Amino acid sequence: MLPLNIIKDSLHTPCFVVEQSAFKRSIEGFQVALQHYFEKSIVSYSVKTNSLPWCLKEAGNLGCYAEVVSYDEYKLALLCGYEKNNIIYNGPMKSKETFLDAIQSDAIVNVECHRELEWLTCLPKNKRYKIGIRLNINISKISKLDANGDNDDSRFGFCVGSGEFEAVIKRIKTLENVDLVGLHIHRTSLQRRVEFYENSISYAVQVIKKYHLDLQYIDVGGGYFGIFANHPTYDDYAAGFYRILKQNNLEKLTVIVEPGNGLVASAFSFLSSVIDVKQVDDVRFITTDGSRNDVDPFFHKKDYMKTIFRKDGDRQNSPLQVIAGCTCLEYDRLFSLENQPELHVGDRILYHNVGAYTMALSPQFIRLWARVYSFDGKDYQEVRRASTADDIMITSI
Ligand SMILES: *Cc1c(COP(=O)(O)O)cnc(C)c1O
Repeated sequence: MLPLNIIKDSLHTPCFVVEQSAFKRSIEGFQVALQHYFEKSIVSYSVKTNSLPWCLKEAGNLGCYAEVVSYDEYKLALLCGYEKNNIIYNGPMKSKETFLDAIQSDAIVNVECHRELEWLTCLPKNKRYKIGIRLNINISKISKLDANGDNDDSRFGFCVGSGEFEAVIKRIKTLENVDLVGLHIHRTSLQRRVEFYENSISYAVQVIKKYHLDLQYIDVGGGYFGIFANHPTYDDYAAGFYRILKQNNLEKLTVIVEPGNGLVASAFSFLSSVIDVKQVDDVRFITTDGSRNDVDPFFHKKDYMKTIFRKDGDRQNSPLQVIAGCTCLEYDRLFSLENQPELHVGDRILYHNVGAYTMALSPQFIRLWARVYSFDGKDYQEVRRASTADDIMITSI
């Protein structure tokens, strides 16, 4: 936990703070759990979940691969020091150049689209190459208890039901220098249950058997809980994978996971300060230098896990305070407090568990990206400065 004096005085707000120990504990926790059950396993950091270079470098130092889903992320992973053969390349937004480069450099590449199949014909004919493909998974069909409605079907991967999966396999077989060695089955379910993963692996096993696939890896994707009380643990997930694979004599496959949310969510907090207070009829409006864009870019959340730090001094209770952000949007309101001690200028609010899909989705709106500090248990250090108008001018032609 961050020391109080650092939260209250030292950090310049608005800012994110990443706690190194929390990030490390999650990554190592997942690695150890998989190693307990499997001879070969890979934890691959989902770059899109939080593409802060500090995270990529830290994950890489801890032995993670980088899981990237676009040519931009592929290049970012290289800039953060990843070897190409420690990259997993997924998603439809590959470029032909980076796709071919990744395959020729022994990255793990999961084919997602028809155009990628055609790009395979451009590989040199005098060497053999390995690829994986993504299997289309409909959550409500393979795991009824996890059915959730609108997006249960999937835009991703090749579908068995439509015949495309079989056609793709046949196409790959016609390529003499390409071997299909992996299946990718990423889906995120609402409840993140272990049984969901068991069901999707069972489905993958059916497909592997039906098409007599001779694989080296199964990539189970992301979507896990991090380390939280009363939720499945990394060991529970790994045991579930093992149970299904072992039943089917496939436990020797390399098991790959691509967690994002589970690794970073709880490692990050966001700190803002009260910059103004106004009374409007019965409401005390508290303006802060943070914004909903910083902690809730989808504007879905109703409340936040947060801690309020009031400076010393007597406070009266206020019937209603609305804590608002720094943008000009009327609806940039974060939460309200009823019958609580009033907030004053200079008080601070720390929002917890905001590391996943927040920083990466924050727009450059009105107040540009906040700075980021890392905290190693003793000292803090700035690892990203705040964005400035100069940063915008740099890309302007
Ligand atoms: C988003 C994504 C992940 C990470 O999902 P989390 O829910 O953040 O764990 C992993 N793999 C793929 C292919 C993804 O698109």
